[in-house]
Amino acid sequence: MTIKQPEFLPMSRDEMDALGWDQIDVLLVSGDAYVDHPAFGMALLGRWLVSHGYRVGIVAQPRWDTTIDIESLGRPRLFAGITAGALDSMLAHYTAFRKLRHDDAYTPGGRHGARPNRASIVYTSLVRQTFSGLPVVLGGIEASLRRASHYDFWTDKIRRSLLLDSKADLIVYGMAERSLLEVAKRVDEGTSLRGIAGTVYACRPPEIPAGAATLPSHEEILAEPKRLMDATLDLEAQMHQRDGIFVQQAGDRAVVMMPPPEPLESAELDSLYDLPFTRQAHPAYDEPIPAATMIQFSITAHRGCAGGCSFCSLALHQGRRIQSRSPESLVREAKRLTHHPDWDGAITDVGGPSANMWGARCTAPSGSVCRRTSCLVPERCPHFKAEQAELTRLLRRIASLPGVDHLRVASGIRHDLAMIEPAYATALITNYTGGQLKLAPEHASPCILRLMRKPDFRLFEKFLTLFTRESRGKGKSQYIVPYLMSAFPGCTDDDMRALRRWFRERGWQPQQVQCFIPTPGTVATAMFYGGIDPDGNPIPVARTDAERIRQHHILLGKAQSAPPPRKGPPKPKGPRKPSGRNRGRGSRGQ
Ligand code: SF4
Repeated sequence: MTIKQPEFLPMSRDEMDALGWDQIDVLLVSGDAYVDHPAFGMALLGRWLVSHGYRVGIVAQPRWDTTIDIESLGRPRLFAGITAGALDSMLAHYTAFRKLRHDDAYTPGGRHGARPNRASIVYTSLVRQTFSGLPVVLGGIEASLRRASHYDFWTDKIRRSLLLDSKADLIVYGMAERSLLEVAKRVDEGTSLRGIAGTVYACRPPEIPAGAATLPSHEEILAEPKRLMDATLDLEAQMHQRDGIFVQQAGDRAVVMMPPPEPLESAELDSLYDLPFTRQAHPAYDEPIPAATMIQFSITAHRGCAGGCSFCSLALHQGRRIQSRSPESLVREAKRLTHHPDWDGAITDVGGPSANMWGARCTAPSGSVCRRTSCLVPERCPHFKAEQAELTRLLRRIASLPGVDHLRVASGIRHDLAMIEPAYATALITNYTGGQLKLAPEHASPCILRLMRKPDFRLFEKFLTLFTRESRGKGKSQYIVPYLMSAFPGCTDDDMRALRRWFRERGWQPQQVQCFIPTPGTVATAMFYGGIDPDGNPIPVARTDAERIRQHHILLGKAQSAPPPRKGPPKPKGPRKPSGRNRGRGSRGQ
């Protein structure tokens, strides 16, 4: 069945009535506000499902002390899909030092407090209470990265798979388009949800599929922290090789992790991004949503990152294989932007997880198995082919479209990759940086960079020289903003002092310093928890808040003060009242 794409996916009964929909097929519940932009997962998947004939409604940031918001669109015919939002809800709430954040870029007015801690669990419970027997599917970064037993920094504990703790039916991990369509089809047909590529399901041990490889169990990881590394590396390899079924037992239950689905082909990505996104927040909101404002005129050129940085959740979510949109599709989107009612002449980004990986591909013979953890470090794989010359032409083409006054590349770039294509590097520096370029050398110490899977620091220094020369040559006053990390596993106070020295010698004060946060599911987190590198060798770890703050302050050149005693993260307040024009009507969007 073909369904006309609505201007916005409905958030109220009135909108459903206006569309002539008596019932929705799929309910999407999210911890983020609904912004109809392809960079917001809920909008992307919602419109994708509509384009395949399913009526989709959205409940965004529901209150969690009542089921009123969840009930607002009625019972969906097929299933509810739940996401905590673009970030893990604990990361959205707490800083690296477990302090409560005061803002939330995915909420109207940028206010904190619109979603609960552990939003996937709380929303699943709300849907269960409201629609008995309705299949519940979890997705998004929180569910993806917590799909197996994982370390939870905020409670300093190993937690079971989110599937078991939430009691949802399924986790869809990674980019969910194919898996969600299969879920919808199977629920419609009344067939089993087990065995879908890109999903995780729970079962009793006798039901474990034949041939599944076994991860260390939850209890084994609890007893021996180093086993988390084994489980993490296996899941990382599964994500990259797209092969193998893994199973992990926890008590008398088991979670079965199917291999990821084939990624969308270029033509499929093109058609996805051709859907009629309004690039605006749903009209129910009467305050701006900071993230929406920031990315309104940005273009996603590709998915995936070949870098394999050991601390990156995004790469684990999207995988290492690059899937790029065609130049025609990107140019089409840029042209559409110039006709947008809010258009101001500037495209703020043409990028992806690493902006200069558009078009990159693996040229290894088909059928060969890649066991590397990065295509770029310790040295570039001979099979990795970048397309930066083509990307340069594409950026030039988009920038010269009528109505486009400025084009910026705001996504981070891989400077090691940029160095191999001088024409790209020069074009980027002289035309598309907008005065400052964000680079992420992260550290200077060779052993820390090896653990991070980041390129040699000398490449950053070379790029800096090139950047300065090219900028001066064009008479431009612009600078590089280096992103750095403190307290990474393996890093000592001496390593931080060495990094600090490098900056001091150049009269440069580091601005963007992130204290490492062991987010669920990454290899770096397994290093933090187990105190070992991926080969099992012991490494020093700044584990306590006092050690972490000390490293952080060394780099910032701050006087060191003792941190307050650790008592666990403060609790966020309860759900805030509905805001904006829906106040007093019981539910936003009605
Ligand atoms: S063979 Fe080389 S280019 Fe291909 S995925 Fe492996 S590391 Fe990357």
